[in-house]
Amino acid sequence: MKRYILKLKSKTIVGEDYYIFDFDIPEGITFKEGQYGVFMHVDKEIDGRKVRAFSIASSLKENIFKVATKIVEEPSDFKVKMRELEVGDIMTFDGPMGKFTLEEEYNSIFIVGGIGITPARGILKQIENSTYDKSCELIYSEPREIYPFKEELDQMDFVIKHYESDIDYTKKAIEEITLKYMNNAYYYVVGSPRFLSGIKEQIANLGISPNNIKFDRFNGYE
Ligand SMILES: Cc1cc2nc3c(=O)[nH]c(=O)nc-3n(C[C@H](O)[C@H](O)[C@H](O)COP(=O)(O)OP(=O)(O)OC[C@H]3O[C@@H](n4cnc5c(N)ncnc54)[C@H](O)[C@@H]3O)c2cc1C
Repeated sequence: MKRYILKLKSKTIVGEDYYIFDFDIPEGITFKEGQYGVFMHVDKEIDGRKVRAFSIASSLKENIFKVATKIVEEPSDFKVKMRELEVGDIMTFDGPMGKFTLEEEYNSIFIVGGIGITPARGILKQIENSTYDKSCELIYSEPREIYPFKEELDQMDFVIKHYESDIDYTKKAIEEITLKYMNNAYYYVVGSPRFLSGIKEQIANLGISPNNIKFDRFNGYE
């Protein structure tokens, strides 16, 4: 694992509290789409925990290093300092880490809660520029119907999209898609611990082998 310097190129706000940060891609960096790393501020005093894990939301083939997060009304000091980042400001990234990466021999089903879209976006951008020719579906659940990256996702014809807001409809979509693919797919489930816990049980009950499921648990969200 190495430490890289990230220089902020742009910051975009989606809805009230989703923030997308585009950094210059650090020279020499390599990672697999869907991996994550540990981020730190530079030259800033932070009250409380000084590090946060964020998934890489971009593909290695893009000319940008992207992360996205949710910054609520009363954020942690770490996120206050992120919100205040200006173009040219620096953070560090220790990584990459994690196995939430594409299994190229299988169909892909992404089940995403809110900001959990980050590693899925990275993998979908990877697929977009590859010879991967399996089926691909995305269930994207966000209670307020604010979907970061929706415009880009809508341009990806190779993925069947299901935008949901209600948890019951999300579960219904999961059931339909799971019954369609069963164990002929890999299931990539990502979001808060609460989002994951319900879905873990649901897809296990539907008969999906644990070997066909990858979880990315965003600890720190409820
Ligand atoms: C592999 C991985 C990838 C992630 N990717 C993203 C991403 O792409 N975008 C994103 O927004 N977030 C991501 N997260 C979550 C992120 O690291 C932060 O925890 C989250 O954004 C909340 O940060 P915060 O500063 O708002 O709240 P925090 O101040 O970090 O915490 C809020 C609450 O959660 C508790 N908490 C904090 N950390 C942990 C922990 N590790 N285990 C248990 N409880 C904890 C705190 O005690 C507090 O009550 C990821 C986490 C992991 C583990």
